[in-house]
Amino acid sequence: MQLLDGKKAAQAIKEDLTQKTTQLTNAGKPRPHLAAILVGNDGASETYVASKVKTCAEIGFESTLKRLPATVTEDELLQEIEALNKNEEVNGILVQLPLPKHISESKVIQAIHPSKDVDGFHPVSVGNMVSGAPTFIPATPYGILLLLQHYNIETKGKHAVVIGRSHIVGTPMSILLSRNSYPGNCTVTICHSATKNLKELCLQADIIVAALGRAEFVSADMVKEGAVVIDVGITRVADASKKSGFSLKGDVKFDEVAPRCSYITPVPGGVGPMTIAGLLMNTYNAYLKKHS
Ligand code: NAP
Repeated sequence: MQLLDGKKAAQAIKEDLTQKTTQLTNAGKPRPHLAAILVGNDGASETYVASKVKTCAEIGFESTLKRLPATVTEDELLQEIEALNKNEEVNGILVQLPLPKHISESKVIQAIHPSKDVDGFHPVSVGNMVSGAPTFIPATPYGILLLLQHYNIETKGKHAVVIGRSHIVGTPMSILLSRNSYPGNCTVTICHSATKNLKELCLQADIIVAALGRAEFVSADMVKEGAVVIDVGITRVADASKKSGFSLKGDVKFDEVAPRCSYITPVPGGVGPMTIAGLLMNTYNAYLKKHS
């Protein structure tokens, strides 16, 4: 069994982007610039956004964090997005989800200009992804592709089972793995809460992507010997031994599944860091497109 170390793979991407950013600044050019909007004070969202902003600073990207209260109106948020759309210095815009219930996520996603849609959730980005055109791929599936690439994992002709069909992870992952490219060319089965024979399907999988958000759901008896297992799940589970009061659990029972795998991602330290790497790559690509 080999660990798919997301921290190491993300570090390699960050070093490459640092070098590219240094070359830009040495040539007197502006730096890539990511703008994030955080609405309210959700603990997990605070952590994710802080980590994105911190990583931008590490690699030399500019970043702007716009914080808005949970009581902000939908119109006010849309105006903030419009200002960032018009701001020539900003290359990528992300609005951290989830949003308070009184704000329509789909309106917010559609308000971001597709040329700055570094989260890849805008219908234009999704349409381009489905048709195989160059576009922004949602950061988590993009990060998983980069991880498979980093470890040279063979995907052609493999049976991939994706558990979960959300718009941010499962659905784009299933489309990307089925595309005629590398990583891709898989035969893909996408599973969800109405799937009846999940265990049997998983046992046929050469690659399992677990993205359902149920702590330690995938057990050893669901995994074929030699499978590649990508664990996307992050669930906070109460843990009195931790200072924070919780520990992070993946969707896979790591200890019992790992011995059966050829490759497996840990949680934390697997898909999480690669998601940030995917976002940074999207921001750099948005910058290149604007300045080419
Ligand atoms: P989501 O929107 O809640 O979607 C979960 C999906 O799993 C749904 O399609 C649901 O089916 C399916 N599902 C739920 N229970 C199931 C079951 N018992 N059997 C089969 N399918 C089941 O979640 P998400 O946003 O995709 O996130 C999934 C997990 O990944 C979460 O733990 C999240 O925190 C984590 N995540 C991690 C990263 C990272 O950077 N590492 C990034 C994004 C998300 P239905 O459609 O039928 O309801």
